[in-house]
Amino acid sequence: SYVITAPCIGEKFGECVEVCPVDCILEGDEMFFIDPDLCIDCGACQAVCPVEAIYHEEDLLPEDEKYFDKAKEFFAAA
Ligand code: SF4
Repeated sequence: SYVITAPCIGEKFGECVEVCPVDCILEGDEMFFIDPDLCIDCGACQAVCPVEAIYHEEDLLPEDEKYFDKAKEFFAAA
C-alpha cells in the first residue's frame, strides 16, 4: 500500500483522490488516508501529490511509519 504522511496535514489538496483508480483515498479531519486493503500500488497518487506526502509503505522513513498505523486505524473505525 501507499501511505500519506505529514505534509498532507492541513493541506489536503486532494489531487490524489481524483486520480486513484479504485477510489480508496478518503478524507479525515486533518489529512487524507489511503485504505491499505484496497490500494493496488499503482503510484498514481504519489505522482500528482503537490507536497510529496505519499510514499510506498516499504519506502517510509521510520518517523513516518505511524501514518501507516493511522490509516489502518482510520479504516478500521470507518
Ligand atoms: Fe490509489 Fe494507486 Fe494511490 Fe493506491 S497507489 S492509493 S490505488 S492512486
